[in-house]
Amino acid sequence: MKIVMLGAPGAGKGTQAKKIADKWQVPHISTGDIFRANIKNGTELGNKAKTFMDQGLLVPDELVVDLVVDRVKQEDCANGYVLDGFPRTIPQAAALDKALAAIGGKIDFAINVEVPDENIINRMSGRRACVACGATYHLVHIPTKVEGICDRCGAELILREDDKPETVKKRLDVYHEQTQPLIDYYTKQGVLEEVDGTKDMEEVFGAIVKVLEA
Ligand SMILES: [Zn+2]
Repeated sequence: MKIVMLGAPGAGKGTQAKKIADKWQVPHISTGDIFRANIKNGTELGNKAKTFMDQGLLVPDELVVDLVVDRVKQEDCANGYVLDGFPRTIPQAAALDKALAAIGGKIDFAINVEVPDENIINRMSGRRACVACGATYHLVHIPTKVEGICDRCGAELILREDDKPETVKKRLDVYHEQTQPLIDYYTKQGVLEEVDGTKDMEEVFGAIVKVLEA
């Protein structure tokens, strides 16, 4: 069961990816984790990636693909895996397919956790962070006892730059431009499955389980 998770930043695809990995006992593979592991172990690919990251540059597609392919070839991936945050672009998806075909594999499911931009912007704009201790809250989901004040240390809470509607909107625009074409790509392969990501976490997971067990 080789799965690719699709969905906008803030749609909750990472959470669902973890739940799938737990239920089916397959690795949850995120590019961030692969980078960290390779850099920590000082692998050749990791060292290459580090030179880009140290300069604040994006790691080039080919290198990301090499890192992911290297990971999915490992023994623990024999029964499948859940890719989270990769591929992000058509060239990455095509490179992954090519590499998988070379080892006799293919992606079985691309699960798109669908959440309208407006919902994501609303979710993010409800987040609050403590300026002093870094604790995080949410106006609706994780409210503080006193509005605007950290439960843990009593300092003031702020809406982080990253969570501001303008910033979130920009991230979503980039996502739509780069990643939306993947939806067509996997539709053509007949492996795309859409789930409604506006529901609560367990309901979304239920819908995914149904798809995977069908
Ligand atoms: Zn605090």
